[in-house]
Amino acid sequence: MATIAMKFGGTSVADIERIRHVAGLVKREVERGNKVAVVVSAMAGETNKLVAWTNDAAKADGAKGIPNQREYDVVVAAGEQITSGLLAITLNAMGIKARSWLGWQVPIQTSSVHGSARIEAVPASEMQRAVESGEVAVVAGFQGVAGSQRISTLGRGGSDTSAVAVAAGIKAARCDIYTDVDGVYTTDPRIVPKARRLEKIAFEEMLEMASLGAKVLQTRSVEIAMLHRVPTRVLSTFTPDQGGTLLCDEEDIVEKKPVTGIAYSRDEAKITLHKIPDRPGIASAIFGPLADGGVNVDMIVQNVSEDGKKTDLTFTVTRGELTRALAAIEAHAKEIGYRDITHDANVAKVSIIGIGMRAHPGVAQTMFHTLSDKGINIQVISTSEIKVSVLIAEEYVELAVRALHSAYELDAA
Ligand code: ADP
Ligand code: ASP
Ligand code: MG
Repeated sequence: MATIAMKFGGTSVADIERIRHVAGLVKREVERGNKVAVVVSAMAGETNKLVAWTNDAAKADGAKGIPNQREYDVVVAAGEQITSGLLAITLNAMGIKARSWLGWQVPIQTSSVHGSARIEAVPASEMQRAVESGEVAVVAGFQGVAGSQRISTLGRGGSDTSAVAVAAGIKAARCDIYTDVDGVYTTDPRIVPKARRLEKIAFEEMLEMASLGAKVLQTRSVEIAMLHRVPTRVLSTFTPDQGGTLLCDEEDIVEKKPVTGIAYSRDEAKITLHKIPDRPGIASAIFGPLADGGVNVDMIVQNVSEDGKKTDLTFTVTRGELTRALAAIEAHAKEIGYRDITHDANVAKVSIIGIGMRAHPGVAQTMFHTLSDKGINIQVISTSEIKVSVLIAEEYVELAVRALHSAYELDAA
């Protein structure tokens, strides 16, 4: 008998029939003698719809169209309220004692950065006592309560983070993340049919995979799992008894291939400043205003200046932040002193990830010549100890990922 957390994503709770199926999986765990906290996402597509409404509402009367973030959270958190209630109703109808818990009721305490709040604490509470007494707690994922007592949300894909944080909060023996694939694959199985499921993946690798675009887990959920040592698995809702991937420590992986997985992100935009002065302080003049404007800069490349006086600098931001980034730079055009500014949102980032990279030289070179063989131009490169990322034209993403998947011998037999 154990206390466990189970999380079900949007496709798993997309309609009443699927919620009934999910309730069956919960019931099975209860009948095994386990005490269960369940975390649910909104029905598939629901959060997108709510986000679109907030944008439309903000455009009323020709306004600029940026919704107030506190009210955005009130709206987009609503999808999870519905599924938590529906799953509790279904469980009760099946004779399993259950109740729903909204973020503020648990409470899932978060920072006040509305729209992408961080969970700060999940204090021991009535919810935990309910679980200990044998009642199933159905927690609305993605939402929490900020210090100001207002509803907050955790950023897209945030129910994974709710689940791992709840698991840590109630000291669960494990956290099972049920989704529409039966584990973490070498790359997104939707674009590479030959992708292989990984039995295990090291926390560090999963952290990189998630932050570089593999949306199977939200990055923050992996951080919390790692920090609080929550045994976390990814499983399929539809074939729960097959497959699965366990997040583990690096030492638990015996065979360390140079590359474990490939991730991609289309959420990228590139900005180039042409003919900036090549002098100390120029980077600070550019990135200072971006930081002040709350823009996160990812990749950066500065060209060698031909004459020692002028150079070009390119950097990337997420597409959603492109307009803000351009505005921040243009507001400081005089201090920076560039001749021209250009941008391109038709770019994507492709990354290879693996802890084995540390011990295998030449891994990046395989990436570069594989892309060159396909005629794909690399615009920006960035590396760390266990990953190499390149920025390429968006139209080549799938081709690049497939070619790299074969080049690193990741294809399923
Ligand atoms: P949920 O709604 O259950 O949270 P998501 O859509 O957020 O599900 O995440 C699951 C999806 O992540 C899969 O359907 C798959 O297309 C995508 N994905 C991207 N990279 C990977 C990967 N390396 N392994 C598995 N799935 C991946
Ligand atoms: N429903 C939220 C989203 O679509 C949270 C989640 O699914 O994890 O982003
Ligand atoms: Mg998700």
